[in-house]
Amino acid sequence: MSKAKDIPIPEKIEGYSQVRLDINLTDGMIEKSELLKDFCREWVGGYGFGAKVLWDELEPGIDPLSPENIFVYAHGPFPTTILPTSSKYGVFAKSPLTGMFGMAISSGSVAAQARRSGINMMVIKGKAPELSYLVIDDDDYYIEPCKDLLAGKGCFDTEEILREEFQDQRLAVMAIGPAGERMSKLACITNDRNRQAGRTGMGAVMGSKNLKAIAFRGTKGIKVAEPVEFYKLAKKLIKVANGPATAKYRDLGTPAGITSYNKLGMFPIRNYREGTWEKIDDGTFTGDTLNQDWVVKKVACSQCSIACDHITQVPKKHPHWPNLFSSIDVEMCYSFGTNTGNEDWPTVFKCVSLCDDLGIDAISGGVTASMACELFDVGLITKKDLGYELPFGSTVNLVRFTEEMIKGEGFAGEIFGDGCKQAGIRLEELGRKNAGYYGMHIKGLEMPAFDLHGMTSFAVGESVSIRGACHLRNGAYGLDAKGTFDRFGYDKAVERGNAIIKLEDIYAIIDSYIICKFTRGIYENDAEMAKVYELVTGIPATDESIAKRGAAILNLSKCFNIREGWTRADDHPPEKFFKEAHTKGPAKGVTLKEDGYQKLLSGYYEARGWDTETGIPKDETLKDLGLDFVIGKLKAATAGGKKK
Ligand code: SF4
Repeated sequence: MSKAKDIPIPEKIEGYSQVRLDINLTDGMIEKSELLKDFCREWVGGYGFGAKVLWDELEPGIDPLSPENIFVYAHGPFPTTILPTSSKYGVFAKSPLTGMFGMAISSGSVAAQARRSGINMMVIKGKAPELSYLVIDDDDYYIEPCKDLLAGKGCFDTEEILREEFQDQRLAVMAIGPAGERMSKLACITNDRNRQAGRTGMGAVMGSKNLKAIAFRGTKGIKVAEPVEFYKLAKKLIKVANGPATAKYRDLGTPAGITSYNKLGMFPIRNYREGTWEKIDDGTFTGDTLNQDWVVKKVACSQCSIACDHITQVPKKHPHWPNLFSSIDVEMCYSFGTNTGNEDWPTVFKCVSLCDDLGIDAISGGVTASMACELFDVGLITKKDLGYELPFGSTVNLVRFTEEMIKGEGFAGEIFGDGCKQAGIRLEELGRKNAGYYGMHIKGLEMPAFDLHGMTSFAVGESVSIRGACHLRNGAYGLDAKGTFDRFGYDKAVERGNAIIKLEDIYAIIDSYIICKFTRGIYENDAEMAKVYELVTGIPATDESIAKRGAAILNLSKCFNIREGWTRADDHPPEKFFKEAHTKGPAKGVTLKEDGYQKLLSGYYEARGWDTETGIPKDETLKDLGLDFVIGKLKAATAGGKKK
């Protein structure tokens, strides 16, 4: 199989602007350089660019919240083309939440405006002397102090204020809120009001650099290598994207999944105690109810006709949150809904809106709030601690808890303001024995909307994710939901490993292109996905070549984690799944089995070409992927087999 270097490269490549900006916030220097064609071919865009820069330029072992951390912004070759869902950007840094590879991806208008300004990637280092914002205005790049204009403002206001300043509603703004300014490890970046680069604390990294916001606008056009052929293929893809392949995202939105995953016993209820809920069975808390009773509008990102973003409105007469608008998807329905035992939709909307505006990841925020509800239930935190009660099913008090957690105020903020893992550590330091057991995270990142009791393939897929608990690194939940393998069993370890890897590698490409995973189904096959890349960039691509680039990108970010001290023990689901069974539903009486899980994990490592004991990539695997440059540093990092 060929390496990237074997893929012929044309005289000129298109799609990419090939412009890298290096921004040193400490001294305010901004340098522009050219991204070489080879770099673009080898690392594709978004995730690939982030993985390579962090491997090459980040000093191992640094504090993620220190000026030494590197914050990378990158998009791929597609923004402002007509390819559906391609206005996406990624941010990458060492994560303050996991201490490993951090990444978050968002949609909206940012990538389109950034591409129009002519940039492709920004590498931001150092720390500004005071809270500042960065402006990318075509070829005008500058850093401005926030002064009173933006300090302490929520993300929604920050965006509006900057648009007002520039007298331009097209201005695209990535902003952090008060949570990012105080460097909460849960902090996200919000853009276009409803879109978040949410996961792994990338907002805290911006906060640690005194970077409140980045504003983009531009007027430049884009060229593609084969315009006629690309137009034909993109037109076909747009047509398919408006058809049945994405209907569920357009109609009910991702909350369509609540009912189906509840039936399978896979939807998290009460901090992952159960996988089914009578409030879903009886129609109180479903995607249908949400849409019928609360959704007032559907919104699309730039370059998208799917409009998966469902906007809800609380009526003007509501006693607590009148006329509240919020953006909702399935992850929020469990994180602040079923997982906190809460069936009250306006409570969910209010909590999500607080997260989006004040700036934390609403998945991590909800799962941390769910942990607090369970700790209250088992008596490990009390009314005396919080100042109010917080049983499962709380409404007004859940909102109060959420606001304090985000702002870092009171017991809720002090203990839970940096997520589940830190909350467990802090409570155990206070003598609350075993409190960490109730924190549902992997590698420090809070878990997504899947309960793992009866999901043995996804238990592995989610645990090996390089950014911590995540449904978007390989989507292996589909293997369990579709019955590809026995979801309660532990057979076919290597075969399952290969199935996870196939998904993982193509997802790494999707996150490098970057496009929405919702649109994977609009491509006839991976060869067609390769074809759009070739037609836009002029760089030859096949299904085999893109899968191999995906594998190289994934392996490189895995090596980053190893260099930061990762060990096999980090690829493990929370203990609760092994100790407590569901009391009802399809997974009644089921727990994960440690020996079975370990067998599947070794099978995945074997299929990856990693050492089956340690999970470290073998030299021949790295060489085959063209990652020879990693080998020496990896050996140095793992010498003696000790964690740093
Ligand atoms: S599918 Fe949804 S998230 Fe993706 S580009 Fe369209 S509206 Fe945005």
